[in-house]
Amino acid sequence: MDITTLCTAVRGTVRTPGAGVTEVRVATPHDISATVRFAARQRLRVTTSRRPGAGELAVDLTALKGITIRGRTAEVQAGATWAELDAATQAHGLATPGPRLSYTSVVGAVLGRARGWLTPLHGTTRDNLVRAECVTADGRLVTTEEPEGVITSVTLRLHPVDRKVYGGVLLYRLADAPAALGCSANSRGGGASSPGWPPTSRHRRNGSFQAIWSGAGCSRWSRRSWATP
Ligand SMILES: Cc1cc2nc3c(=O)[nH]c(=O)nc-3n(C[C@H](O)[C@H](O)[C@H](O)COP(=O)(O)OP(=O)(O)OC[C@H]3O[C@@H](n4cnc5c(N)ncnc54)[C@H](O)[C@@H]3O)c2cc1C
Repeated sequence: MDITTLCTAVRGTVRTPGAGVTEVRVATPHDISATVRFAARQRLRVTTSRRPGAGELAVDLTALKGITIRGRTAEVQAGATWAELDAATQAHGLATPGPRLSYTSVVGAVLGRARGWLTPLHGTTRDNLVRAECVTADGRLVTTEEPEGVITSVTLRLHPVDRKVYGGVLLYRLADAPAALGCSANSRGGGASSPGWPPTSRHRRNGSFQAIWSGAGCSRWSRRSWATP
């Protein structure tokens, strides 16, 4: 199978940006099978890294965003981020333990046994894995409880979450903080999390930022500020 054959075999797009690197932005799990078979014949290493090296074939999974909630489970395709999964599950009053960084991939969290705010109650992300759909090294699409090869989707167990908010983070520009808070700077904090925490480089580019939070152990609203380095 050569590059031309690969291009016709996949619904996604094939790029050859140079230095012996091929990238396939896959559109379906079957695209991954075709890509892995191609890589095996060409003796290329398959990677999901965004920075492939020479001799590697990169599988870009970011177009696989499907999330299906069925009862107390979520089937999540490999391109979905934790923020996207949270948004889908919270619409049903459900959640599953994940990392505290919302832009990380759900599959990365499964493989890395991510720990987050719900871990004391429900374990790590991996503990909540029901099954994974994977493409094996020889290009077969299999469903398994033990992930191998390239994972195309994972099914995770979901748990009811109380809709009451005991803690959270609101981000304001430093200049807007006094008006938002209406009191002077001082205090202690409770635990906090939100999709989008911690502040990203975008927040930092915008100048100083302010986190305001409340939570268990806080008798009143609290705040703390950081200046941009
Ligand atoms: C500031 C900071 C704070 C953090 N805090 C926490 C925390 O509180 N709790 C926590 O658990 N973690 C934490 N992490 C770790 C972070 O959540 C992990 O980076 C994340 O879980 C992995 O997601 P990723 O998007 O980086 O994965 P990726 O980089 O996409 O993948 C991670 C690994 O999985 C492999 N992989 C990815 N997709 C696939 C696939 N489809 N098939 C096969 N292999 C695949 C990759 O090759 C790589 O080896 C923190 C990281 C940082 C930088």
